[in-house]
Amino acid sequence: MGMLYGVVLGILIFTLGTVIGSFLNVVIYRTGSGVGYSGRSKCLSCGKMLTAQMLVPLFSFFFQRGRCAYCGTKLSWQYPLVETLSGALFVMVWWVTGFDPLSSGIKETSFFFLDAAIWMTLLAITVYDLRHKIIPDRFALCFALLSGLLLLFRFEQGLLSPYFLTFTGEYIPVWVDLVAGPLLALPFALLWLFSGGRVMGLGDAKLAWGIGWFLGFIGGVSAIILAFWTALIPSLILLFLSRKRFTMKSEIPFAPFLILGTLIVFVWNVDILRWVL
Ligand SMILES: [Zn+2]
Repeated sequence: MGMLYGVVLGILIFTLGTVIGSFLNVVIYRTGSGVGYSGRSKCLSCGKMLTAQMLVPLFSFFFQRGRCAYCGTKLSWQYPLVETLSGALFVMVWWVTGFDPLSSGIKETSFFFLDAAIWMTLLAITVYDLRHKIIPDRFALCFALLSGLLLLFRFEQGLLSPYFLTFTGEYIPVWVDLVAGPLLALPFALLWLFSGGRVMGLGDAKLAWGIGWFLGFIGGVSAIILAFWTALIPSLILLFLSRKRFTMKSEIPFAPFLILGTLIVFVWNVDILRWVL
């Protein structure tokens, strides 16, 4: 891939990501609000319909100086933030999959779009969980279905289990990745059940199911271990700052950390078990 071509393609892919991100904002805002997903976007404050030029990702927000063009109400920073993040996630998926519209076959193209769709779902889950401390079932279901589809595709392409356990030197059999979804969800579901929902939400179990299918067994386990490690730091800080009764679920949403762990494994193919053992 030539240098100039690479830069132009990168910009195009980032732009595509910001466009999808602006749709994602609508989905995040309208989920659970009682408003349907169809229908033109309106200002949440004055209710006026937004024109096409007010819907251009990133640019609209900055040209309108973060305010509604009609009534001047301040717009949420969530809009440009989600658009930027989804652009960046598209570039990340492009970098990981090596997708090139001019030379990629059906395989790379499918991986690019499936992975991109998965990361859009994970971005929606992150933002929603940070705002409402809950993972909508339809987001978790969407993630698990897309991951299952990706898993079947990897299976069909003979690409399952690129990982192997170093302490035995053997490849993990294919069926382990196929059951990795329910297998990784189980401990979270048990934590939820036996703590009466205080330690972990059931949403985290549903998320872990998708992670198992998305990354396979070893990758999924690595992502979850990374999530606990990274969540430990802010948890300890909060524990020392507040003397009130402390539960992970009530203080810190865990899903963003699960997704951060997933991102680290997705990009760098980290195998924590290999490090630890
Ligand atoms: Zn307005």
